[in-house]
This record gives sequence, C-alpha cells and structure tokens, in this order.
Amino acid sequence: MAELIDQIRDIVGERGVVVHEDLLGRSAGFRHPNETLQAKFLVRPANTDEVSKVLKLCNDAGQAVVSQGGLTGLVDGNIAGRDEVILSLERMREIEEIDPASSSMTVQTGVTLQSVQEAADEAGFFFPLDLGGRGSATLGGNVSTNAGGNRVVRYGMARDMVLGMEAVRADGTVLNSLNKTIKDNAGYNLKHLFIGSEGTLGVVTRLVLRLRPKPASQETAFLAVDDFNKLPKLLNFCNGRSGGGLSAFEVMWKEYFQLVLSTPGAAQPLPGDYPFYVLMEVIGGDTQGDGERFENMLAAALEEGLLVDAVIAKSEGERQAMWALRDDVESLDRWGPRVGFDVGLPIAEMPAYLDEIDKPIVAEWPDRKRAVFGHLGDGNLHITYSVGENGANVKKVIDDAVYLPLASRGGSVSAEHGIGLAKKAYLEVSRSPAEIELMRELKTMMDPNNILNPGKIF
Ligand SMILES: Cc1cc2nc3c(=O)[nH]c(=O)nc-3n(C[C@H](O)[C@H](O)[C@H](O)COP(=O)(O)OP(=O)(O)OC[C@H]3O[C@@H](n4cnc5c(N)ncnc54)[C@H](O)[C@@H]3O)c2cc1C
Repeated sequence: MAELIDQIRDIVGERGVVVHEDLLGRSAGFRHPNETLQAKFLVRPANTDEVSKVLKLCNDAGQAVVSQGGLTGLVDGNIAGRDEVILSLERMREIEEIDPASSSMTVQTGVTLQSVQEAADEAGFFFPLDLGGRGSATLGGNVSTNAGGNRVVRYGMARDMVLGMEAVRADGTVLNSLNKTIKDNAGYNLKHLFIGSEGTLGVVTRLVLRLRPKPASQETAFLAVDDFNKLPKLLNFCNGRSGGGLSAFEVMWKEYFQLVLSTPGAAQPLPGDYPFYVLMEVIGGDTQGDGERFENMLAAALEEGLLVDAVIAKSEGERQAMWALRDDVESLDRWGPRVGFDVGLPIAEMPAYLDEIDKPIVAEWPDRKRAVFGHLGDGNLHITYSVGENGANVKKVIDDAVYLPLASRGGSVSAEHGIGLAKKAYLEVSRSPAEIELMRELKTMMDPNNILNPGKIF
C-alpha cells in the first residue's frame, strides 16, 4: 500500500505537500521566531473537499494532524511535533461573497484578518474584530481561539461575529452550516463546538461573518486616572453617556506607560506620573455632533472627579500615536527574560489580586519588574513579570503565583488566548473536574482516534 504522504499527494497534488526538509526554511511563528517548523510533512489543501479527504486518510491511519493558520497564536496550540502532520489553510484564502442584504461576508478560513477588514471597508461595512497580529492571523485561527482584541467591549469576541460555519470532522465528514441569519435556533448550534476549541474538534474551512455598519465617527482620548476604583465608574459613565458607543477602554498601569514612553519616538500625550492611563475610543454615526458630545462627556467625567487629565486626538496621526503606546508590547523586550500572562477576573477583584500575586514574587526577587495593562472593560489583564533570570523553575514559581489565586476570585487562566500547551497545567484552576470530564467526553466522541491536535488543552 502507498505511503500516507503519496496518498495525500494524489489528493492535493505536488504543490499541496511540503516535505520535512523544505519546512526547515519556515519560521515556527510569532512565539518561536528563531525556530523552524517541525512536522512529518505539511499539507496545503486548496478546498474543503481536499481537507475532508486528507482528514479521512489521516483518521484511518491514526495520523495526528495539527491545523495551522497564521502562526500568531500565543499558547502553542499551533505547534506540531516531528511525528505529526501540519494541515495549513494557507491556500484557502478566498473571500467568496459579500452580501449587503444580510450584512455578511463568506470566506475561506486561511484569509487574514486584515484582508477581511479591508474588504469589509471597501464594501462600505465594518468588521470589528481587531488585534495586533491582524496582518498574519487568519480567520480560522481567530475563530478557533475565539480571539478577543480591542473592541470586545462593544462587539464581543470572535464568537459573536460568526453567523455560519463549515467545518470538517476528524473522519472527513463535512458539516455545512453556512447560514447568514442572526437567528437560528434549530437544535444545537454546533458552530459553537468549534469556536474556541483550538483545532481539537475539527478543522474550520469556511465562515459566514457578520458585518457591521461602518462607523461615521471615531473619537479617541488618552486619560489619566488617580484611583483604581474610579476606573469601573468611568467605564460605566462613558458607556452610558455615549449610548453604548464605547468601543475601547484600554487601561495601562503607570509602570507599563512609563516603559512605552521610553521607546524612541514615542509621543507623550500626558505627564507620566499618574497611577493609571486609559485609552478610550467611542464610535458613532454623527460626523458633525459626535466630537462635541465626546468632549462634553469627558468634561462631565472630569467634573465628577472620575479622571484628572485628558487629551483628545485631533487627527488620525495623533490617534495612531496613542494606539502605538498601548500596542508597544515589544518595549517589554528591553527587560530581558520575561513571563507574560493573559488572565480574566471581575474588575472589582483586580487590585487585591495584583497585590496578592506580587507578594511571593517580590519575596523571591525584590527587584522584579512588572507591567500591567489590559482590556479592562472585558475583565482582561495582561501582566508581565521580569526577574532578570529565566528557566523552568523561575517560570513555575511565577506561573503558580499568578494563576493559582484566580480560582478563589472567579478568574480565568485564559481571558482570550486559549490554553494550547502553554497553559495546560493550569486548566483546572478555572474549570471544575466535571467540566473537564465533559470536555474529554466531547473530544472522544468527535475525534475517537485522537488525531486532531492531540495533547492540546488537556
Ligand atoms: C501581536 C499579536 C497581538 C495579539 N493580540 C491579541 C488580542 O488582542 N486578543 C486575542 O484574543 N488574541 C491576540 N493575539 C493572539 C491571537 O489569538 C492569534 O493571533 C490568532 O487568533 C490566531 O490566528 P492564527 O491564524 O495565527 O492561528 P494559529 O496561531 O496558526 O493557530 C492558533 C490555534 O488555532 C488552531 N487553528 C488555526 N486555524 C484553524 C482552522 N482553520 N481550523 C481549526 N483550528 C485552527 C490551531 O491549531 C491553533 O490551536 C495576538 C497575537 C499577536 C501575534
């Protein structure tokens, strides 16, 4: 009988297979830029039928398969071992249809997020999902990790932007639910099984995405706040006053703000000695009146004592300079070895939680550096520690300090990046034994030969 790779070549053609030796020229992705891809071989199907046939062959052969999009994932869910086959969606990048009547876009899942945003914009619509990896990240990866990003407070996560889905099961069965309607309660809504399942339950091949009206106005401001307890009040105040138009509420703790200010070329919107800074954005539909309403809203917040200083972006350049500060995560590289976290917890718990996790770390490394910023409106904090050294032991001490206290505070070890391999050891902090057991049962039922991303999540 022919080797698996030859049988697969018969399906996808010569250019649909990249052998191991040729993978050595490809980077392993955002988290491992200095490493090359590892795998038995990589297969690049051109359409759903080919994905289905490839998966059927792999399933029959008990061959492990790791789906890959743009390799920007941050928890190693996209990493393949030397004995695994990579299934890359890189040849499935087509935007198949934009349907103005249903405000929807149908795409193959290898398309990048940026291409989808641009196509929506050209058609007079808005696709609100947005994150730093937009130029490489694919819709398949976004949906499989249920990505969040910068506008969750207004539009929800990737899950909330998917109307319909086509996915292929481990045995090659194609599930076609490419409907375009917001309402669809005909039995279980199976697309949600695949969203956020990190490639462990099926391969997502096509999507119907929900488009939104293009905002006519976008107001951005940088604010200084002197007390953590004022942040949730400010959030609710501005969300209410803007009629739910608040689309970003990004908070930077002082240490992070001062670090990004030290990046050459960084523009300083406000003095750097307040404890908290907020990058706020409000979108609306009235080009004439929204700017004035925004100014009035901030003046009222100032009067109420919810903020102490504010500057409004007066041009697209100023707006981008503000976002560049928030997005300058590379500045953290200047600290040397570091450990980063993406946790979720109720806003009211945040100050006590940050004190609690710091104690054991400061006890061990009194000179530790820490940066905190996050999508506060979503209860999502990004925390980075740098203690001047590296290694598994250091990471374990810091991981335990950050993750374990989340259990008693109703927190999540992963607000938006997923579990993959990187957070596998801590899943039980946020999920009960009964929940993990049901996840395992679902996995066994949908992928009985355990070929899809084996060993990821649990
Ligand atoms: C600079 C930067 C900023 C980021 N900011 C954010 C942020 O603000 N919010 C946020 O949530 N995330 C953020 N991320 C991480 C984000 O989750 C990923 O970038 C993205 O969603 C993954 O897309 P990808 O195509 O790169 O997937 P990959 O990294 O290739 O894969 C990610 C996971 O999805 C699976 N997968 C990929 N495609 C498919 C498919 N078609 N079918 C089934 N499974 C599949 C993989 O097996 C893997 O488990 C950021 C990443 C970077 C690099």
